[in-house]
Amino acid sequence: MISLQSYVQGRWVAGTGDPKTLHDPATEAVLGDVRPGGIDFAGVLAHARAVGGPALRALTFPQRGELLKALSAKIHEHRDELLEIATRNGGNTRGDGKFDLDGCTGTLAYYAQLASTLPPARHLVDGDGTQLGRTPRFWGQHVHTSRPGVAVHINAFNFPAWGMGEKMACALLAGVPVVEKAGTPSALLAHRLAQIVVDSKILPEGAFQFLAGSVSGLLDLTTAMDTVAFTGSAVTGALIRGNKNMVARNVRVTLEADSINSAVLGPDVESGSDTLEQFLANVTTDMTQKAGQKCTAVRRIFVPQAMLAEVAEALVERLRAVRVGNPADGDVRMGPVASAEQLKDVRAGMQKLQAVSDTVLGGPQAIADKGYFVTPTLLRAKDASAPVLHELEVFGPCATLVAYGGSVEEAIDLVNRGGGGLVASAYSDDRAFVESLVLGIAPWHGRIWLGSEKTHGQALGPGAVLPASIHGGPGRAGGGEELGGLRGLMPYLQRTAIQGDRAVVDRAFGKGQGG
Ligand code: NAP
Repeated sequence: MISLQSYVQGRWVAGTGDPKTLHDPATEAVLGDVRPGGIDFAGVLAHARAVGGPALRALTFPQRGELLKALSAKIHEHRDELLEIATRNGGNTRGDGKFDLDGCTGTLAYYAQLASTLPPARHLVDGDGTQLGRTPRFWGQHVHTSRPGVAVHINAFNFPAWGMGEKMACALLAGVPVVEKAGTPSALLAHRLAQIVVDSKILPEGAFQFLAGSVSGLLDLTTAMDTVAFTGSAVTGALIRGNKNMVARNVRVTLEADSINSAVLGPDVESGSDTLEQFLANVTTDMTQKAGQKCTAVRRIFVPQAMLAEVAEALVERLRAVRVGNPADGDVRMGPVASAEQLKDVRAGMQKLQAVSDTVLGGPQAIADKGYFVTPTLLRAKDASAPVLHELEVFGPCATLVAYGGSVEEAIDLVNRGGGGLVASAYSDDRAFVESLVLGIAPWHGRIWLGSEKTHGQALGPGAVLPASIHGGPGRAGGGEELGGLRGLMPYLQRTAIQGDRAVVDRAFGKGQGG
């Protein structure tokens, strides 16, 4: 039993107030608690601005990259211990835990490598310079500089390691100190990671602070140079975006919220093809990995009417083979959802979807006396237009088959009813279908993953977020954008147009001086 502490202003501080209990979601055993209060938020922000920020900004991009490389290696040294915590507090199978933890160290390592390719400067050059006057003497150049503020990172419970690592990598490389707030149900892993980061002394003092409890009140103290990056539900995201202080001061905010992700099977895909196999394998993984608690997991499965029965049967066979249980048992392929609250939400959500669907497999009924277990659940929509199908995210191992006639126009219309998504996947070897679909759904999505005969077995599925590609999406997905190589640094940098004597502008800020 451990009472989690926050690391602020150079020391570990115990929380105050009514504790929230942390559980092993497989056994309901109490593991520890988190107390919401007791933190001097003004002091936290001042420490980051006065101590951490200047120390990071004194370093060049490649030097900051060295810090990320060392952090990645240090966290990796603790891999087995961290995977054990992910199982105990997160209900993760070993595979789920690796997805989260190796995603964290991999993203830090990716940004370390990217930084090593940048010039040894403290600013980044943006594009080519341009003549702005009558002669080339008067010149313009855009540059990016580090904002002298704080990166406030608020993360969801489902990826305590990756969520922390991917946000940290971008902010620290941009030269901005971070204040990390972990999602409470799985905070044991985030807390241990924070201890490892602090104990390693790799980062300059003030560059990293960690909050275990509530952030209530902190956002009211943010100012113009700060950036708030949030991952979580659309409801909390809307509260953050609407924070009066942040609106008044134009504090930058980037939101990663929920998404009713789609998988579309093309009308050309036939029984026994590699494309169908890829589709079935990816849908099964998405539904069951991390017990479906992935923001990128597929929720709506669009299948041509003619293939519906075959696809349903094949998915049932695969989902039945997924052994559900305590992930401490190595043979288990899917653990419980993260908390009692999650279980309640997932069951209620399944019931709402059942009102407009037939249940093909599973359902909300209890499957164990102890633990927050739910069975993989496949539904089949009775009516493709029922709004709840396109509006409700059930954050668990649940997805709905939706039949469509096979035309690309209908597929585009149905997919886009999700109102903005993180990722959509499409499986087809008909190039005309794929091209039309991509052009029709791209404005509504941050990422589109294309499966085909030629790519079968070559890459991780659509549920995996890779640091080289952007992560985020418009509309209900939050409207934010993270990662995507150097694009991921943009929320923490200011772009400025420098205009003047070319000899001055080009020499100090032109290509070869910055990145
Ligand atoms: P959540 O309830 O919205 O919480 C997210 C984070 O916000 C937690 O750290 C939470 O702290 C904090 N929080 C809660 N109320 C707040 C407030 N008023 N002001 C500031 N912070 C507040 O979401 P969740 O249940 O942790 O995560 C599940 C959701 O996240 C799902 O909807 C999923 O789709 C979404 N998600 C999206 C992405 C993405 O990249 N788009 C990735 C992962 C998850 P406490 O935990 O202490 O309440």
